[in-house]
Amino acid sequence: MRYLAALLLCLVVWTCAELPEAGQEPEGSAETPLPPGSLYEGPAFEFEEVVPGVFHARGTGALNVGSHGAVVVNDDHVLLVESHISPAAARAAWDEVMELTGKPLRYVVNTHFHFDHAHGNSAYPDEVQVIGHEFTREMIENGGSMGRSWENFVGGIPDQITELADLVMRTDIEEERLELEDRLAFLENYYASQEGLEPESPNTTLSERMTLFAGGREMRILFFGRGHTGGDVVVHLPAERVLISGDLLLPRLPFMGDGYPGEWAETLEHLKGLEFDWILPGHGDPFQDRERIDHLQAYLRDFEERATALHAQGLSYQEAALRIDMTDHADNYPQIIGPGVVEIAMQRMFELLDGTAG
Ligand SMILES: [Zn+2]
Repeated sequence: MRYLAALLLCLVVWTCAELPEAGQEPEGSAETPLPPGSLYEGPAFEFEEVVPGVFHARGTGALNVGSHGAVVVNDDHVLLVESHISPAAARAAWDEVMELTGKPLRYVVNTHFHFDHAHGNSAYPDEVQVIGHEFTREMIENGGSMGRSWENFVGGIPDQITELADLVMRTDIEEERLELEDRLAFLENYYASQEGLEPESPNTTLSERMTLFAGGREMRILFFGRGHTGGDVVVHLPAERVLISGDLLLPRLPFMGDGYPGEWAETLEHLKGLEFDWILPGHGDPFQDRERIDHLQAYLRDFEERATALHAQGLSYQEAALRIDMTDHADNYPQIIGPGVVEIAMQRMFELLDGTAG
């Protein structure tokens, strides 16, 4: 029954999206059927207007959308940063942004190749320009967005679904069972959006920088060097003094499984030369505190130094991940509650040191 309600709601959302705003005929998404994993109720996104016409886009929890994104509303079109975790999430963002603005989507920027930022690309028609670093295109073309990092986050879902389904069967407290059923439906819908997904790469690439002068705005897409991945770009709006940072700079510790810790710290130095008041990150809330650049640089440099020392002692990456002590950074990163780091971060660091990093 609730499945049916969700389906009906999707149909309602879909139908609404077919109605263009008065006086305009936005190029909508409505002619194409909804992608797999589109069963959810209510809006998938909330939009916070940080400066006029520039929004931070975050998932409401109705649908797994992966990363946060940004919406730049220009005179005659919209630019989105990130296509999110799946075609279903990309489609939701597109439809909801069109509802919000009545303007067609012209540009999408992928800040990097990670699945939670770029797996929605296939939801867009060819006329939408999807922009990313040439490394991002290469990684997606070569299956890199479905590699170890994807496996790390998505590979365990079928087992979680089985466990949850089993729990649902065994729970006789009505309230608890309903809650578990909701979680199960969410997870099944999420997995449906990833299973069989064929990622598409950006159709426009850059190697260092490009600037869009369009719809009354100047939008700079900038690459400063390797960091969170080999091809992170940021979007800088100089007039609005906004920096959309992807995962290169977050208000918390970023995922490090594909990173280059030492180079990352150097790359972050370049951000200090840009003029901005607001940072819109790929995860976490918008922030203004520029000291966060220093915090991440200090963490990355210490991590590299300490990991290198443990590597030199002949430890395995698993042992080193347990042993490394980063607790002196806990004031800046409250998620550090004791010694140790996630294993994949150390595995990556050891691969860099061994010269085997992919
Ligand atoms: Zn990422």
